[in-house]
Amino acid sequence: MALSGLQVYKLLPKTNCKDCGFPTCMAFAMQLAAGKVELEKCPHVAEEIAAELGEAAAPPVRRLTLGTGERAVTVGEETVMYRHERRFEHAPLLAVRLGEEVTDQEFSRALVAFRDMAFDRVGQTLRPGGLALASDHAELLAARAMQAHQVTGAPLLLLSSDPTVLRAAAAPLAAARPLLCAADAESLPGMAAVALDLNLPLVLRAGGVEAVAALATQAVALGLKDLVLDTSPATLQEALRDHTFIRRAAVKQRSKSLGFPTLAQPWHLARARGAAAGTMSIGGGESLAVDPLLGTLYASFFIAKYAAVIILETLDPAQLLPLLVLSQNLYTDPQRPMQVDAGVYPLNDPGPDSPVLLTTNFSLTYFTVAGEVENGRVPAWLLVMDVEGQSVLTAWAAGKFVPEAIAPFVRTSGVAEKVSHRRLLIPGYVAQISGELEEELGGEWQVTVGPREAADIPRFLRSTM
Ligand code: SF4
Repeated sequence: MALSGLQVYKLLPKTNCKDCGFPTCMAFAMQLAAGKVELEKCPHVAEEIAAELGEAAAPPVRRLTLGTGERAVTVGEETVMYRHERRFEHAPLLAVRLGEEVTDQEFSRALVAFRDMAFDRVGQTLRPGGLALASDHAELLAARAMQAHQVTGAPLLLLSSDPTVLRAAAAPLAAARPLLCAADAESLPGMAAVALDLNLPLVLRAGGVEAVAALATQAVALGLKDLVLDTSPATLQEALRDHTFIRRAAVKQRSKSLGFPTLAQPWHLARARGAAAGTMSIGGGESLAVDPLLGTLYASFFIAKYAAVIILETLDPAQLLPLLVLSQNLYTDPQRPMQVDAGVYPLNDPGPDSPVLLTTNFSLTYFTVAGEVENGRVPAWLLVMDVEGQSVLTAWAAGKFVPEAIAPFVRTSGVAEKVSHRRLLIPGYVAQISGELEEELGGEWQVTVGPREAADIPRFLRSTM
């Protein structure tokens, strides 16, 4: 049973020393009880008290790391229902399923395609996180698991209903921490023995939330700690209801039997839905052929609500990229926008005559502007100002991208030493500051208003500068 804020407070030193970053021990206790801060933030808690507080300090959704090394993926540790309350902690593991219907040749090709798949977006590399290998043949699963591990190094899910098959495949790879999938009420003793012997995480599968909670209680009693829950839903609606219920029970009620990451199989659900018809009705009238994309569409729901492991049945980059971008967008900290360093960035080998473009250090803004200028093959200096990672209009509205702040930045940025002219191009969205900025710059710089859209910058530069 989790402790209340008051119960936690009684165990703290009560000195209000503020070393934890909170003004009082009570404030820290409330956050600790809600699972929103780590106990380690208070350096004054005695060891025996720390053990007692362990339960209260643990995140409501248990943390789970799959795989090892640089491709290891951590899921769980979530503390909120909605991103704006704080943040979502760990993006779901997107695992590409390869079943035994895939030939050896196709399997080898798929591994290479998976290993080499990477998308660059706003300075980050996006890629599917793991592989889900399915077979009820021990020899085949063991051989493919080893091959997949050696070729990709990515986290593996091993899918079989037979504990002896999972043991054979997982034992040689136990150090790489694959996820065993899945135990039901009948197979739990056998699956639990494999998971305990090899110290590996295990998926529990049962029909519905109550059944999976009961199974989790049994599994914990057997000594298992690292669990993933699958309620085996029949429809998308059931699946979203179950995932939401489990998250709420974990976060709001601190349910111990439901405080684990969850697994979703969108293609499974899409097949059930799509088996009836290859089309679906949009807005009550229009009918679109969506069969090939239904799994992707369903997967997008689970990225938002609230799966930790999602099994995909595609290696098509056109289907994976939108899912990865969605995941990246949702799992960035809303209180810490992605940003690049302030400074003067040379694009396309600029010279002293090249134009100077001013923008903000919000990653998306920087990479969009830089990408368009680079693709347009126009040499330019991109002057990036630190506005705490805000976009142009947001920073202007917040008083951070205004003439009084821009002028000193331009003077101290070093851009004047790189160019022989004094022409500064500002974003079209802040056209209204051009006159005032010229004044703030003491008339040394001629300020020109550029286009609003980054895509129009190269043409604008060619025609005007
Ligand atoms: S660091 Fe510990 S003792 Fe100090 S205010 Fe925070 S909770 Fe209280």
